[in-house]
Amino acid sequence: MLIKRYLKDLTSLFFPQTCVGCDKPLAYREQIICTDCWYHLPYTHAHKDPHNEGARQLWGRVQLEAVASYLYFLDSSRVQNILHHFKYRNRPEIGTLLGSTYGEILRAVEPFDQVDAIIPVPLHPAKLRKRGYNQSTFFAKGISLSMQKRVLEDSVIRNKASESQTKKNRYERYENLLGTFAVPNPSLIAGKHLLLVDDVLTTGATLEACATALLTSGAQAVSVATIAKAL
Ligand SMILES: [Zn+2]
Repeated sequence: MLIKRYLKDLTSLFFPQTCVGCDKPLAYREQIICTDCWYHLPYTHAHKDPHNEGARQLWGRVQLEAVASYLYFLDSSRVQNILHHFKYRNRPEIGTLLGSTYGEILRAVEPFDQVDAIIPVPLHPAKLRKRGYNQSTFFAKGISLSMQKRVLEDSVIRNKASESQTKKNRYERYENLLGTFAVPNPSLIAGKHLLLVDDVLTTGATLEACATALLTSGAQAVSVATIAKAL
């Protein structure tokens, strides 16, 4: 037992970093996410299918060019661990890594290759104060690195504290969120095809309300990319 513990201590001495997906020590040259996790992550491949689940989920709610999520969000999975570190353990660089990796894929696929700028879904101000960073902004920055498109931060803002969403049905959630997003300077987005990005696509109510605000403020088109898609 003692030897085992000694070896473990020794390992962590040489490899102080562990993978945010599986918690195993990272090998030499591995960063943030280990090779095994990269290999086994549940990729949706949604960018290849315009009629993917996420896109269908938003049909009839808001006019989007395309919707794609990088990974499936499964409970107690590597994805859940990764997102937990990303959102609650002060590891914003995880979003940049996932964004740059996904951006490499999206830049080669229509209509994502025609995007003019990237917009992160703004975080609720209370959450921003608590967390210290908007996770979607870091995902946006990563995508921006690969796609060579600007991030238009603060071009859409969250302007009022919305009530808790949990006890509302889908329409009530949407209605509650609709007045939440505002575009303070519409000329920044006028005529542009925007890539709206967020961490997880769940009910889609936030993305729907945010995309609606952008489109009614003069955006030419909106596409959506998220790190994960809830099942
Ligand atoms: Zn791992």
